[in-house]
Amino acid sequence: MENVTIIGTGCAGLTAAIYTARANLNPLVLTGTMPGGLLTTTSIVENFPGFPEGIDGFELMQNLQKQAERFGAKIQFGTVDACDLSGETPQLKVDGKPLDTRTLIIATGAGHRHLGLENEAKLENKGVTYCATCDGALPMFRDKPLVVVGGGDSACEEATYLTRFASKVYLVHRRDELRASKIMADRAIGHEKIEMVWDSVVSDIHGVEEDAVTGVQLENLKTGASTRLDCAGVFVAIGHVPNTQLFKGQLAMDEAGYILPEKGSRTSAKGVFVAGDCADQVYRQAITAAGMGCMAAIDAERYLGELAS
Ligand code: NAP
Repeated sequence: MENVTIIGTGCAGLTAAIYTARANLNPLVLTGTMPGGLLTTTSIVENFPGFPEGIDGFELMQNLQKQAERFGAKIQFGTVDACDLSGETPQLKVDGKPLDTRTLIIATGAGHRHLGLENEAKLENKGVTYCATCDGALPMFRDKPLVVVGGGDSACEEATYLTRFASKVYLVHRRDELRASKIMADRAIGHEKIEMVWDSVVSDIHGVEEDAVTGVQLENLKTGASTRLDCAGVFVAIGHVPNTQLFKGQLAMDEAGYILPEKGSRTSAKGVFVAGDCADQVYRQAITAAGMGCMAAIDAERYLGELAS
């Protein structure tokens, strides 16, 4: 039986791994389908303390993994298919095989929110994408007009990044004020290649017949006007949804699906702790996820101590 199993290798999961490994608990860390988590899809991370020049998101995650492995964390490529958290110890099924563990740290993070349009799904990877750093440099987007949807830090960061490749970037936001932090908003609004499209939503994506995005339909929420805007790509950056479906009905959650810890990182199930974006609707920063991972590790260690005494 494992002492500690951690689901997720984002900032929360890997920080929990560093702490539990240093406590000689030999944690098993399951990567899920996105090793390194969402930060691996970011370019430069400028606000993680300790890196005055910033650090590449992928490199940061590799460093965290190396640090955890150095102290004995076991990283395993695997996905949890099912779990039962109702007993004395959490029971998991990992890629079809049962796994018993005394404690479980859930650090499953969050995934990209979709617009929910029929053609969005049909044109995914054919011009519709959720990650500028992953896909922005593709030949299909070079020297073409591109659309970014959203008004937060992600949308501003993606729009600014895409100016390296695109002929022009349209940043479509449903209000007339960005949600993004001032520094990110100013960078986007002040960029000569970025044109803001305020008070508007993308109501349809064109290009299904051509098998590649050719444009979007925009609805102005103030005037009601509907216009077509030609573009070769749609980068959706409208926030995230927590990856918690697996635990629905077993753990206390808010209506958006974020897990609600009871005390510190402890959840309503025995031996189950939670950390990072899957339990954080508010802050959602790399450093807060790392802090929550540390809390979960300390709570799990103390819980194991209580079991042993
Ligand atoms: P976010 O802050 O939740 O912003 C989501 C944006 O999408 C909002 O502007 C929202 O509009 C819009 N939106 C939501 N649903 C929509 C829909 N169905 N249709 C159209 N627009 C929709 O998400 P985020 O930008 O991904 O940022 C998440 C967290 O990561 C934040 O805490 C952010 O600070 C952090 N982050 C930091 C950095 C950095 O510092 N380098 C970079 C990226 C992200 P409304 O504004 O009208 O609600």
